[in-house]
Amino acid sequence: MLNTPHILLPGPTPIPEKVQQAMTTSMSDHRGAIFEPVMHRVRQRLHELFHLDPQGQVAVLPAAGTGGLEACIQNFFEPGDRVLSVETGMFGKRFAEIARAMGLEVISLTVPWGQAFSVEAVLEELDRNAVRGILTTHNETSTGVLNPIRELGLALQKLPNRPLYIVDSISGVPSIELPMAAWGVDVVIAASQKGFMCPPGLAIFGIRGDALDALQPHRLGRHYFNLLPYVQGQLPYTPAVSLWYGLDAALDLLAEEGEAARFARHRLLAQMARAFGEAAGLEPIVNAACASWTVTALNVPPPLSPGQLRRQCQALGLQIAGGMGPWHDRAVRLGHVGAVDAADLWAGLGILAHFVPHPEAGLAKAFSVWHATA
Ligand SMILES: *Cc1c(COP(=O)(O)O)cnc(C)c1O
Repeated sequence: MLNTPHILLPGPTPIPEKVQQAMTTSMSDHRGAIFEPVMHRVRQRLHELFHLDPQGQVAVLPAAGTGGLEACIQNFFEPGDRVLSVETGMFGKRFAEIARAMGLEVISLTVPWGQAFSVEAVLEELDRNAVRGILTTHNETSTGVLNPIRELGLALQKLPNRPLYIVDSISGVPSIELPMAAWGVDVVIAASQKGFMCPPGLAIFGIRGDALDALQPHRLGRHYFNLLPYVQGQLPYTPAVSLWYGLDAALDLLAEEGEAARFARHRLLAQMARAFGEAAGLEPIVNAACASWTVTALNVPPPLSPGQLRRQCQALGLQIAGGMGPWHDRAVRLGHVGAVDAADLWAGLGILAHFVPHPEAGLAKAFSVWHATA
């Protein structure tokens, strides 16, 4: 194939050339003089990127994001522990399923699809039930909802027996802000193949200093995923060396662009996608007030169907994501996360426009949003 496909997916995401090249670096001893500085540099910069307190630690595990969620349950909880799972879609539900599979007692607070959780509802639930931890999702990729992580974090800080506050930010950090120390988030799980612009395969943790005491040193039923050596800066088993090189290069690029510009870019992309949908006849499903910066779910009205729309786009070289769960037959999702700029999104919208009710209106409105910032 002459050209690689355009992808507007909420993972995996496009990989910048510098990251691709870094991953071709030759192998060396992963405990030796060549790799060691890479490991230290990556850990240091992840610590800054998560805005952790000085005692906070990071860990990078060879796993998909879901492996990171599982490791989190295995390291911070024992079977029988009670947790509150605040679920706003498929990924929140998955986190709860993992916790149940590991023997935790899970109280689920579920929110209708397409809505963010309410801090008041979470606090009420905490009033009724003593729990050791709260599991929730920063950016719910299945719906394109951004949850009020900051507001809940600040409210939790006022509680006498604060539960561990654990956030799946796999499609959030580093594209969406989540300063851990300031917002009082104890554990964040991210993954290499979304905003980090790398291939899948690394689960990335930020852990607040206070939360390190909650790591269970002698828990049964876990070995490979023991986080203790990782937070001490060791790599107990052969790391995914090539992915580390890629992550190192990606962190260069993230630093080069800078955080403020990165957040502004993702917000612009979300606004363009939304504006396109509104005018093109694919109404954005989620309210603007809680809309994600990295993924936008668009309603697909009959006689169009999401499956057919995706096939038509694919034939012109664009891959977009389908609706998940209850939205399988009514939505498509546009991912705009990681190494995606306005021109990339514009190219994708240009393909999608062929198959929507009002192509010119959609493109004109997306363009005016883009143009206002250019
Ligand atoms: C992508 C994603 C996951 C799953 O990550 P995998 O790497 O596919 O295991 C979990 N949670 C959220 C919010 C995601 O966006």
